[in-house]
Amino acid sequence: MRPLRGSRLLGFLILGAFLSRSAGTLRAQPAPDHPAVTVQGKTYTPRSILTRNMGNPEDQTTPFPPHRIIGNIYYVGTRTLSSFLVVTPQGNILIDSTYERNVRTIEKSVQQLGFKFSDIKILLGSHAHGDHQEGDALVKELTGAQVMAMAEDLPALREIKPGGKEHPVDKTLHDGESVTLGGTTLVAHLTPGHTRGCTTWTTQAEDNGKTYNVVINCSLRPPAVVTPAVAAEFNRSFKLVRSLPCDVQLGDHPAQYNMQEKYAKLASGAQNPFIDPRNCTLEADIEEAMLQAILKEQQSGAQSNPAH
Ligand SMILES: [Zn+2]
Repeated sequence: MRPLRGSRLLGFLILGAFLSRSAGTLRAQPAPDHPAVTVQGKTYTPRSILTRNMGNPEDQTTPFPPHRIIGNIYYVGTRTLSSFLVVTPQGNILIDSTYERNVRTIEKSVQQLGFKFSDIKILLGSHAHGDHQEGDALVKELTGAQVMAMAEDLPALREIKPGGKEHPVDKTLHDGESVTLGGTTLVAHLTPGHTRGCTTWTTQAEDNGKTYNVVINCSLRPPAVVTPAVAAEFNRSFKLVRSLPCDVQLGDHPAQYNMQEKYAKLASGAQNPFIDPRNCTLEADIEEAMLQAILKEQQSGAQSNPAH
């Protein structure tokens, strides 16, 4: 047998590696997607909730038309990642920078609304996951904003270092603490479960001379495997979220408050579609049903969907 020349040998090795990889792919079973829960006639699974929240990579980076939600609160995020701008006479507050690659997109949306990005004085966040707070360092670099974060999320935030940049935190917040700028006050409520420091923000906004309670929910989506400690966190959070006075519910992913449907109704000029107290706890209902179903499966020994 003729000895294999170097390049042919390399070719065989690459082919071999390719075949064994393909075989591995063929053998892989799709991850199970259960349990399923039905709330208000709609059925949800862990995967359908994740897809609803995230959309595809293009949805995550394509700006959604920036718009006024109510009073001094504006939407400046992408199709599936929320970013909210709160405008005051003493400068503005941004909630969620989303991915670092979206920061310039958010900047454009802020400008499109007629505001200056450099007027952002305070940067807040919903929770320490990259799709919500990866861009914090860049926002701070561009605006000089003070970054404030819930104490319980600090360890996870410090792990978010795009391009090696340290995650900035100028002020540590605690449950119930207020953030005030130019006459607007936002209250930070600790609603853990999804992350240890998941923060639900509440404020009030004026619309046609009336005052409305606004709740910006942190994600209530449970993980695939729920430990007793995490279940206890969620049970506290669901109770707390349900107790908040609410006329306008928003969320860290716009699908959590049906933004697209509501935005479509804005043009009609009738009552502000974001004022929707009847649906204020719909997202909590969906996620609580999912949490209970996951716990039930775990108790009966079934395997649920691996964490994503
Ligand atoms: Zn998250």
